[in-house]
Amino acid sequence: MKVCLGIDIGGSHLKYALGSRELGLLISSSIPTPTSDLSSFKAAFRQIVETVHSSQPDHRISAIGIGTPGTIDLERGQIRGVNPNLPFWTGQDPASLIPKELSIPVACDNDANLMALAEAFECEDQQAILGITVGTGIGSGFVYQGKIFHGGRGFAMELGHVCMVPDGALCNCGLQGCLEAYSSLSGIRKRAAALDRAYAKLDPLALLELAGRNQELAALIEEGRIMLCRALSNAIITLDPKQLIIGGGCMDGGLYSISSLEHDIRALLPEVNQHLEVKSAKLGNQAGVWGAIMLAEALISET
Ligand SMILES: [Zn+2]
Repeated sequence: MKVCLGIDIGGSHLKYALGSRELGLLISSSIPTPTSDLSSFKAAFRQIVETVHSSQPDHRISAIGIGTPGTIDLERGQIRGVNPNLPFWTGQDPASLIPKELSIPVACDNDANLMALAEAFECEDQQAILGITVGTGIGSGFVYQGKIFHGGRGFAMELGHVCMVPDGALCNCGLQGCLEAYSSLSGIRKRAAALDRAYAKLDPLALLELAGRNQELAALIEEGRIMLCRALSNAIITLDPKQLIIGGGCMDGGLYSISSLEHDIRALLPEVNQHLEVKSAKLGNQAGVWGAIMLAEALISET
């Protein structure tokens, strides 16, 4: 039976899993992400493939799917706009991570797109599903008729970087006033640090606890929540998804509640969009590897 390897590139760990939608996951593990240079980064991928081969000798890897931060330029086949942890990764061809002599087909996509793909397959149908992860940054993906929507050149669905405040807070991408600069954990931390430098490293739970005693901090978090609802309602009116799936560290850590987001999003939607179902992500931190496996499976069925 065919199995695929899914690898999810995270800032701290490379998560990987071997499996298929039919068999489930046979292996699921992770190794630290090498952040020093491209050659150690590539060596880690070789190590993952060798580890999987030796621990599952009866299962040949049919294809490999990779989820990466940043976007992929479809015309050039290059990574663009990666987080600052992996500066050497920008401009690279993702398929080059897997040694050519292994002759294993490789597919790669943005990590938030793969989260949306994996979560979409938890839904009854995959007609039109909008997924968003609100964590250190903000990632989003749209699954349309069972496939990831990429736009014209691969840069679609960068909801984290729509402008919410002209000339507003500086975002990690270099623009000002992006949703990510207000509603993500890193955005809230950065703005909270202006109140007290010690707030810059707090996790969602600690921020929430402090907000109970600090009105200015509470106002920052509330502003982030309101911006998130506005951006999502705009995306819903534009895309008309049947389901909206929300996940990520800010949701898991309780910084935003799904019911309050749903309430405020609905208040901004016209009647025709009220059919929308709003759900919490189910797959948690396994969504990335699952999405990568599904991407690899789709690659096999295409060829
Ligand atoms: Zn931005």
